Amino acid sequence: MNTQKSIVSVHEAGSRHWVGDGFPVRNLFPSNGVGTEISPFLMLDYAGPAAFEPSEKPRGVEEHPHRGFETVTIAYQGSVDHRDSAGNSGTIEPGDVQWMTAASGVVHEEMHGRAFTRQGGVFEMVQLWVNLPAKDKMSAPKYQSITKDRIPAVALGEGASARVIAGELNGARGPAATFTPLHVWDLSMSAGSKAELPLPAGCNTAVVLLRGAVTIAGKALDGEAKLALLSKQGEAVTVEASADSLLLVLSGEPINEPVASYGPFVMNTREEIQQAVRDYHAGKMGRLG
Ligand code: MN
Repeated sequence: MNTQKSIVSVHEAGSRHWVGDGFPVRNLFPSNGVGTEISPFLMLDYAGPAAFEPSEKPRGVEEHPHRGFETVTIAYQGSVDHRDSAGNSGTIEPGDVQWMTAASGVVHEEMHGRAFTRQGGVFEMVQLWVNLPAKDKMSAPKYQSITKDRIPAVALGEGASARVIAGELNGARGPAATFTPLHVWDLSMSAGSKAELPLPAGCNTAVVLLRGAVTIAGKALDGEAKLALLSKQGEAVTVEASADSLLLVLSGEPINEPVASYGPFVMNTREEIQQAVRDYHAGKMGRLG
């Protein structure tokens, strides 16, 4: 039997705001003060679930830059059309994941999909920011379009399963290539199910309850948009669901380097941030065509 992790702290969303006119988000870190405890992860916005009326004009976030990290978009309901200055574009449909390495810099837009915009409906999505080590922050931008058919699902006993987006779980390997060792699992549990999750000791680990009711390491958590930080010690955690639940498990080796961040730029020093602002305004991160 593996030694069990314990819950260190539980957090509510620190802010609730709109990103552009398409993403009504609850921010699960860092607006609530959770920061280096969850390195290499930098930010998590939970958008929706929210109903949108049919519209002719796509809603979303227009042209904006990123440098120094990766943006990971996980679509649950509704779709996102994406276009960037590196020439990539596509639609992220429910179940799909987009793993974009901004690294030295990209400019992109993220809008509701055209068909979703016209039809309206419920929109639900997560955007996660993953830091890069200093040595990779100025590497070439990269883009991984991960469709749902490429994401392995691992059964965790009756009524519980995990989609392995990145990392590994019980021998199933996630399709996302990452710069540092980390796991991202999309976990679905039906009421009454129980899952034992093997998680590395020494890593930073969080379980995000998107919605439902669960007991994690003996502590009850229910409702929506909750974050449980787990201890570094221990090699497993037990999750029991008392209602149908949707969770996201994040675990990774911390990047122990200074973080300087300003809006869409996350670097190691103030000077690198100032350079990023200058490079963006000089068009060095490209422009949308
Ligand atoms: Mn963006």
